[in-house]
Amino acid sequence: MPRRSLPSACALCGRIDAERVDGDLVCAWCGWRYGDAPDADLPPVVVEVVYYLRYDRRVKIGTSRRPRQRLSAIRHDELLAFEPGGRAIEQARHREFAAIREGGEWFTFTAELEHHITALRTTRDPWQLYARWVASATRR
Ligand SMILES: [Zn+2]
Repeated sequence: MPRRSLPSACALCGRIDAERVDGDLVCAWCGWRYGDAPDADLPPVVVEVVYYLRYDRRVKIGTSRRPRQRLSAIRHDELLAFEPGGRAIEQARHREFAAIREGGEWFTFTAELEHHITALRTTRDPWQLYARWVASATRR
């Protein structure tokens, strides 16, 4: 498909690449339909995520309602994945991987944990997935 551009930046994420979905022009990054305006009377949508951050051979499993700000404050090598959900999902993962817990929210990056993270990953960049969750929550 040839690359195309929105007539102006996406109202939600500010990007410019466009694609056609069911005849509609939508933002290729977050999927927001061009021309739709987020409801200005409503507060910005909050999407809680569980993040998997790798630093060397350890992975931090934590949760945030503002992942950009949170991740910029944590030293890491790579964002491995996001999973939709908040404290309950985070706590469940901490229990699930209790055997490889190194301390706090840090876990050894074992094959088992890698397998779990791989299953969460899609072809999309984690930040693109997050942008799409925000767009879909804003539409509701
Ligand atoms: Zn967008």
